[in-house]
Amino acid sequence: MKCRIIIYGYINKGFNGQLVGIEAQIRSGFPGFDIIGLPDNSIKESRERIKAAMRYSGFKVPQQRILVSLSPAGVPKAGSSLDLALGMSIALARAEKPEKDLPEVKIMLAGELRLDGKTVSAPYSYGAIECARKNGCNYCIIPGEKDQKHPDPHVFYADSFLKAFWYVSRIAENPESVLEPQILPEPGKKTIFSDVLGLKAEKLCLTYAASGFHSILLFGPPGTGKTLLCSKLHLLLPEHGDKEVEIIRRIYGCAGLEVERPQEPMSRTVPHDCSLAQFVGGANTRSPGEGALSHGGVLILDELDKYSKKLIEAVRDTYDRGSTASSKSGELITYPARFIMSANMNPCSCGGLGKDEKVCTCTALQIQNHWNRLGKAFIERFDIRIPVPEQNTLELMGEEILPDSAYTDMVALACDRQKKRYEEFPEVSYNGQVRLCPAALRKLVEEFELLKKMQGESGGTRNVLGTVVLARTIADCEDRDKVGEEDIRKALDMRKYGTGDYYWRRVSFEHI
Ligand SMILES: [Zn+2]
Repeated sequence: MKCRIIIYGYINKGFNGQLVGIEAQIRSGFPGFDIIGLPDNSIKESRERIKAAMRYSGFKVPQQRILVSLSPAGVPKAGSSLDLALGMSIALARAEKPEKDLPEVKIMLAGELRLDGKTVSAPYSYGAIECARKNGCNYCIIPGEKDQKHPDPHVFYADSFLKAFWYVSRIAENPESVLEPQILPEPGKKTIFSDVLGLKAEKLCLTYAASGFHSILLFGPPGTGKTLLCSKLHLLLPEHGDKEVEIIRRIYGCAGLEVERPQEPMSRTVPHDCSLAQFVGGANTRSPGEGALSHGGVLILDELDKYSKKLIEAVRDTYDRGSTASSKSGELITYPARFIMSANMNPCSCGGLGKDEKVCTCTALQIQNHWNRLGKAFIERFDIRIPVPEQNTLELMGEEILPDSAYTDMVALACDRQKKRYEEFPEVSYNGQVRLCPAALRKLVEEFELLKKMQGESGGTRNVLGTVVLARTIADCEDRDKVGEEDIRKALDMRKYGTGDYYWRRVSFEHI
């Protein structure tokens, strides 16, 4: 953060209104949420609403004791207009403590929150803006529509808590930047790879993953862009059809959530401290967990080696079954959960393996243990496992970046071919899903034969299947009916890491 954010709220009080200073502190102790500074019942009641709105917006509400102080302390305060400011002060209190002598920026936020994190329109905002100006606030954030623009460049409209947070964090980074024309990614026009330099082979592998619904594991030293790549996979997936949309709506409905654009495949990142109940669902109620909420989309496992063994097992079981299962008071509760995994991790525990200037200090055994922790069986479920090497940024400067359509067209083409191939199997739409339906395997007899001819009977069942379906996808992406030896070779190349003693080797992906 480049400056210290001071949060103010606003309450209606006569014509001039009243600005309220808001400070939040997260303290250790029993979980709780106290508001001091003469709040009335309507403000006290807002606590649950704010927590719900924050959670819905993807913020983690602190499990410790939250203390929020309103000033001036002697003036009684009432109304729901403080919601947005209270929530923001908690969100900021969680962020890292800024250094002391940073310049101060005062932001006034006024508005009530709904449980789903949206803001409720505020007729009092004119008064609030005027009051903030008089009291020396630098910026104002008030409820409003997405594209609404205020004539004063210091006033922003936010239709949700998340959008308000976006403004506050941009102001904190660089107060000047927000005064420039706002560039928010427009829905429906998401950039996929056009903001990622280089990594051509990796981008192509992600396209294969999306085309055939294959799970992908990217590994490499820190800072090579593997997390960014992982987060792009769902953007490559084709839009869902009506049947799938219906299923996704129902799953989210069970969780009490509404999906704005259910036809767009989603991605969910599993937090490292995710509990089993959070993943498979049925924590306190019978609602779905992360696994089911990723249905039809991508489950992101960031820094794969940091998850507990138990959670990895749960992910694996769910992935194999294509559904979650939990029991609650003797009842079995299941939800569909057919997702692809997009995972990343360091190639070794020191992170130096594969880095040019840094020497890996791990022994061969340590590297082996690093991978073995995940288990060979789990790693084999990733049809694609590729290294993400460091790039020479200077070399990339003049590089031409392919338009996103070059990748999405390939996915669309491959999807069409697969749809026709698996017409008679309702549960299979992609090559990567044939493992869920053994009957569909007969569609790939020729490919199995070819692999057998090339490498004999060796390789476990899962490995053979993984290679065959991936080779099939590669041929589909290139619009070919027959899988050739070259496709099989490419597929074998993309999955040789991690299950043998082959962890890192700078390979050229020229032939991919
Ligand atoms: Zn190392």
